[in-house]
Amino acid sequence: MIDFLVVFAVSYLLHGLGVTVGYHRLLSHRSFSCPKLVEYFWVFLGYLSFEGSPIWWATIHRAHHHHVDTPLDPHSPRYGLRKAHIGWILRESYEAHMDPYKQAKDLVRDPVYRFLELNGNLLHSHLLSYAINIGFRLIIFAYFGWVAALASLLAGIAVLQIPLMLNVVCHIPRLGYKNFQSKDDSVNVWWVALLAMGEGWHNNHHTYPGSARTGMHPFEIDVSWLVISLMDKLGLVSRINDAAKLKATSNELTKNKRWRPSN
Ligand SMILES: [Zn+2]
Ligand SMILES: [Zn+2]
Repeated sequence: MIDFLVVFAVSYLLHGLGVTVGYHRLLSHRSFSCPKLVEYFWVFLGYLSFEGSPIWWATIHRAHHHHVDTPLDPHSPRYGLRKAHIGWILRESYEAHMDPYKQAKDLVRDPVYRFLELNGNLLHSHLLSYAINIGFRLIIFAYFGWVAALASLLAGIAVLQIPLMLNVVCHIPRLGYKNFQSKDDSVNVWWVALLAMGEGWHNNHHTYPGSARTGMHPFEIDVSWLVISLMDKLGLVSRINDAAKLKATSNELTKNKRWRPSN
């Protein structure tokens, strides 16, 4: 049992960071820069939690930010909870306003990501992702046995639930709070932030989507930012965007003045 829990916890942490640091803050928002090998390290950790093609993920996510909480948002709960949760993931093709060659040009140039995208055939790229994920667990089974393989598989499936849940919960205003006034419904939700390694500070993120940091107060624990900061200290980061170093303008402040920029 201890073996199972240790493998599950370590796998959850690594695959979760693969999604938050790799897929989200690095690929989708380019909030920091690092060597290609480091990028692949995080992205493949994310890929191994059933996240699907990185180009598809980033295209959908950039469309979410661009059209947030409007009818063109791929997963706003304003237009149905089921669609916001998993309905959007079941589409076999991109919607008309989403084009990877426009919204994810930078990723389309990468031959590895282009291969995983399989020419935009979403059904095939999802099947490829599932096959590689299962193959990875079979390798773990062969070397470490069924307990490790099962723990890794369940951790991957658990991590998959993070963005699916976040898309819904962090866009329902009554479930969280805002540091920043915004026209969209994004809110900060503490328990999502804990489960999703900082991604639950979603109102902060929608206000500063290009920032590698989403936790803006000492109590807003942002594990992904701590990892990116550690990478920076190790010399693995060549550029980093930090919203806390930007000067907040007065109209970005809510009445409670929670926002405290460092300079
Ligand atoms: Zn959002
Ligand atoms: Zn984002």
